[in-house]
Amino acid sequence: SKDIKVALVTGGNRGIGYELVKQLALNGFKVILASRDPEMGHEAVKKLKESNLDVWFVVMDVDNQESIRQAMGTVNEQYERLDVLINNAGVYVDHNEKLMAMDPSVLERTITTNFFGAYHVIRSSIPIMEKQGYGRIINVSSEYGALSEMSYPGVGAYKLSKLVLNGLTQLIAAEINGDIKINAVDPGWVSSDMGGPSAPRTPKQAAESILWLATIGPKGPNGEFFRDGKRIDW
Ligand code: NDP
Repeated sequence: SKDIKVALVTGGNRGIGYELVKQLALNGFKVILASRDPEMGHEAVKKLKESNLDVWFVVMDVDNQESIRQAMGTVNEQYERLDVLINNAGVYVDHNEKLMAMDPSVLERTITTNFFGAYHVIRSSIPIMEKQGYGRIINVSSEYGALSEMSYPGVGAYKLSKLVLNGLTQLIAAEINGDIKINAVDPGWVSSDMGGPSAPRTPKQAAESILWLATIGPKGPNGEFFRDGKRIDW
């Protein structure tokens, strides 16, 4: 039915992304789990479908514009709408080196996925959202991308990638028309492959702290940065 809202989560096969998919489905969304790895993606979808959740799979490597184009074509044809987009896919490949000491490929790789990935996925989603006059976009960012973090060396590639993602969030917020909202959110320090085992938050808690932004009303925030439902500084 056309009343069922459709959500897509990038990097949905594991970590925070997997929990986002699960909780969106538990809250009545038809969810498209996007993953660059077909095997891992199908495996994750199978697990969720066993709990009777309305979850579907699409291959999407956010580093690859052709892959994004194909995935969005599938969304358009098979689901005919896209109400919620969560740009969750991300990498953390810094080796604790200073920016001037690191291999430039570390910076390039990080910006490619964490910034350009989100940029291209948003760019292919906005036309669908503008056509239906509705959309909620959430960029999973990090407080590491806050301007205050730029005075401390270390983790430079990751920090810069989230800084530009935050800037993108604000610029797009000022450009879009209709009832479309785009916001950035810091999930906290989360136990996942990226966050490591000693992180205090579970992916479930992180997903809960993010998902309220998926259902904000027409007067809800646009172009803001949040942690645990509270506005934080860029
Ligand atoms: P994980 O490393 O556990 O998962 C990362 C996910 O992103 C995987 O599904 C991975 O896919 C996917 N991914 C990476 N590159 C691509 C790509 N090119 N195309 C498609 N998918 C890709 O990380 P988390 O779950 O912890 O992180 C999710 C988000 O939360 C990230 O944006 C991260 O920066 C952010 N975040 C995390 C924090 C933490 O403490 N964990 C803190 C602050 C922010 P694959 O399995 O194929 O590698």
